[in-house]
Formats: sequence, C-alpha cells, structure tokens
Amino acid sequence: MANPKRKWSKARTARARSNWKLSVPGLVECPQCHTKKMPHKVCKTCGYYNGKVVVQSEEQD
Ligand SMILES: [Zn+2]
Repeated sequence: MANPKRKWSKARTARARSNWKLSVPGLVECPQCHTKKMPHKVCKTCGYYNGKVVVQSEEQD
C-alpha cells in the first residue's frame, strides 16, 4: 500500500516553527512606582512585591 513520506510538508513545518513563541511575555505596571515590570516578579525599580518591600536597595532608607 502506498505510504505518504511525511504528514506535513517541510514548508508547512517551517512556517509553523517560524511563528512559534513570537509573542513576548506581558509587562504589567508596578503599583508602587508605576514602571513596567514582569508579572509575578519583584519590581526591579522599587523592590516591591505584593505591597511590601521584598528587595531592599541601597538608595532607600
Ligand atoms: Zn516598582
């Protein structure tokens, strides 16, 4: 019985792979200093997370 060499063409596979993970992870605004930060990460600017100082920077007193 005739058997297809591959299910999808190489071009179709390459096209699909070229669109893989094109979207960048979203940025959310920090409620403390209103700069863009990574979601679910401590803000690099003010060191705040969930309304508390998590990472203390040398600038703050
Ligand atoms: Zn911040």
